[in-house]
Amino acid sequence: MGKATPMRYTIRMLIYYQDIAPLSDFGIGIPVSDIRAPKCIEYLSGLPEIRPHLEALICKEHEESISRTDVARVHTPNYVKRIFEEERESTLIEAFELLDEKGNYNRYDPSKAKRPLKELFDTLLVKTAGTYQCAKSALESGFCFYFGGGFHHAHPDFGHGFCLINDIMIAARRLMAERRVESVWVIDVDAHKGDGSAAIAHSDPSIRTLSIHMGAGWPLDGLEFGPDGTQHPSFIPSDIDIPVFEGEEHLYNQALAEGLEKLDAFMKPDLAIVVSGSDPYEKDTLPSSAKLQLTLEQMAERDRLVYDFLKERRIPAAYLMAGSYSPESWRVYAALLELALKDRLKS
Ligand SMILES: [Zn+2]
Repeated sequence: MGKATPMRYTIRMLIYYQDIAPLSDFGIGIPVSDIRAPKCIEYLSGLPEIRPHLEALICKEHEESISRTDVARVHTPNYVKRIFEEERESTLIEAFELLDEKGNYNRYDPSKAKRPLKELFDTLLVKTAGTYQCAKSALESGFCFYFGGGFHHAHPDFGHGFCLINDIMIAARRLMAERRVESVWVIDVDAHKGDGSAAIAHSDPSIRTLSIHMGAGWPLDGLEFGPDGTQHPSFIPSDIDIPVFEGEEHLYNQALAEGLEKLDAFMKPDLAIVVSGSDPYEKDTLPSSAKLQLTLEQMAERDRLVYDFLKERRIPAAYLMAGSYSPESWRVYAALLELALKDRLKS
């Protein structure tokens, strides 16, 4: 026997693409907090239980790519044609809401752009590949967190809410096509309803969706039914919808626990994708998430509930960063990662 070597973790649990062009490169002024990942890494490297393993746990390489076929498993043929061939720029303008109702630029200044808007599409495909890579890693290791992804507002035939294509469903359907999984749960704890995911999975029993979100406000702020009686697609229900209204923050985690119990009545899946937005946090600055104001402790309790629920059932969990819009958002993810990585490293 030779000298004992330190234990090595060859399975990565953090996906961190450092070379993604920020939205500001395209002239877009959405206040996404770009310090989230480095601040989390800095925090984790200060924890003696995690520091020696941290390097080995992080994957920075782009190991996957997303094809038109992958996108076409989720989005309608017309929409796929628009985004791949004909109307890339206009679909991006719609999805990122870069024009207001009067046709003026909204949070968008092309004169400040370093890259043409249509190149944002390639960036979104790379980001979506990260979600697929995260899901695949989670199947191997039981847990993986991606510093990106969570485009849950992309519907089968349109994008909105900064979401052009639905990375969550693209990853889930591809894993099914490859026969790596038969069924997936999507647990969406972002402040905004996962309306696109609900619409895509609505008649697909192999993907069960749970969304806990603001009961009022975007994307549920319009009329549910139009003059002709058709339902606005944002109101298509998830399998389990948990609306939380202003002032009900103290009921949030109890409602989440009850929702998870209901999810448990469905057949156990091969994978769960957690859309782990931190915008319910009280320090989030996006006006459209202001109706939920959870404290850091309530956010930690939320994340512990979901983490323990999946771990107890031995369901591999792929976490996506999703929405967060504050210089303080990283604290929510750092607490989740401290919990998960300490737990995984000891077992
Ligand atoms: Zn959100």
